[in-house]
Amino acid sequence: MATVTFRGVTRRFHGTTRNAVDRFDLEIGDGEFLVMVGPSGCGKTTTLRMLAGLEPVDSGSIHIGERDVTNVPPKDRDMAMVFQSYGLYPHMTVEQNIGFPLRTSGMPKAQRAVKVREAVDLLGLGELLHRRPGELSGGQRQRVAMGRAIVREPQVFLMDEPLSNLDAKLRVQTRTQIASLQNRLGVTTVYVTHDQTEAMTMGDRIAVLNHGKLQQVGAPQELYDAPANEFVASFIGSPAMTIWSTRLRGGMLDLGGASTRVPDTVAQLAGDREVRVGLRAEDFAVAADGETGLRMRVDLVEELGSDGYLYGRAALPGGELPLTVRVDGRHHAQIGDTVTVLPNTRRLHLFDAATG
Ligand code: ADP
Ligand code: MG
Repeated sequence: MATVTFRGVTRRFHGTTRNAVDRFDLEIGDGEFLVMVGPSGCGKTTTLRMLAGLEPVDSGSIHIGERDVTNVPPKDRDMAMVFQSYGLYPHMTVEQNIGFPLRTSGMPKAQRAVKVREAVDLLGLGELLHRRPGELSGGQRQRVAMGRAIVREPQVFLMDEPLSNLDAKLRVQTRTQIASLQNRLGVTTVYVTHDQTEAMTMGDRIAVLNHGKLQQVGAPQELYDAPANEFVASFIGSPAMTIWSTRLRGGMLDLGGASTRVPDTVAQLAGDREVRVGLRAEDFAVAADGETGLRMRVDLVEELGSDGYLYGRAALPGGELPLTVRVDGRHHAQIGDTVTVLPNTRRLHLFDAATG
């Protein structure tokens, strides 16, 4: 087992004008399940491939434990990677596929059989030993790919969107299985996904990337409660945070006619200025009759039983604000209604327009 440390890791592809990965710094703890998340093209795969040694590092360094592996070939890094495509050999059985890395490393047959048996039991693949990949479901193939990584007993597991070929239901089941397997094995794992729900449910910590840059790293709840910038705020959490521009003047925030005193943490930004503010759906409340607040026209009602969401628009001086409000399951709002909502200004997030 080992820690993984990225220091200023940068990669620019030939013929491009921007770094695909830009001065990436991250320390991953021994045994940690670290999820890297971000939109397509943000540099997740490139980062993982640099860690695996499959992609050169232009500047910066990568350490596993104390060891500088920046220029060490992939086979000497003691890592196992699980890809989205699984990369199983179609002509080999499940048993042969899982045992393959051990065979190429020259492990004797009897010892190999023991290791394969252990992995197969761990993954519940016992019945399928003699089948070929073509005779397996997507979920079973995914587990065989996991098995092939496990038998090597690597210091680090690398997984690049390993669930993206599974249907939605199986994806949910499998993510729980992978998380609990990682927990039992205690092997440092770097897991890449573009899906924020997957990240939130699986990771000990989550590293959010955008445009090749690390935006924030923290526990799921930390990212949800204290996003470092507007990108993280809008990427993490479902439904997305409502974020808008407004004026802050003498400690008062203009909320579409109604003016609200903001907490001291926000009000310390003195003067009269434009600010970007954000609020989670659960931090709006539907007002009682006669109360003043944001007037919202309801476009869509999502019922989830115990609660639900209203999606709508409020007219603000700067234009229409699309907003999402969580409501109790017993609400009566319907499409086309106008409801008054009250922002809980104590829960307001403030973003710097420059870094957002
Ligand atoms: P992600 O995995 O987050 O979707 P990637 O790491 O695959 O992102 O890609 C990051 C950026 O680098 C993208 O802009 C992508 O187009 C670019 N890129 C990736 N691989 C290559 C390559 N071999 N040559 C040129 N550009 C590449
Ligand atoms: Mg990718």
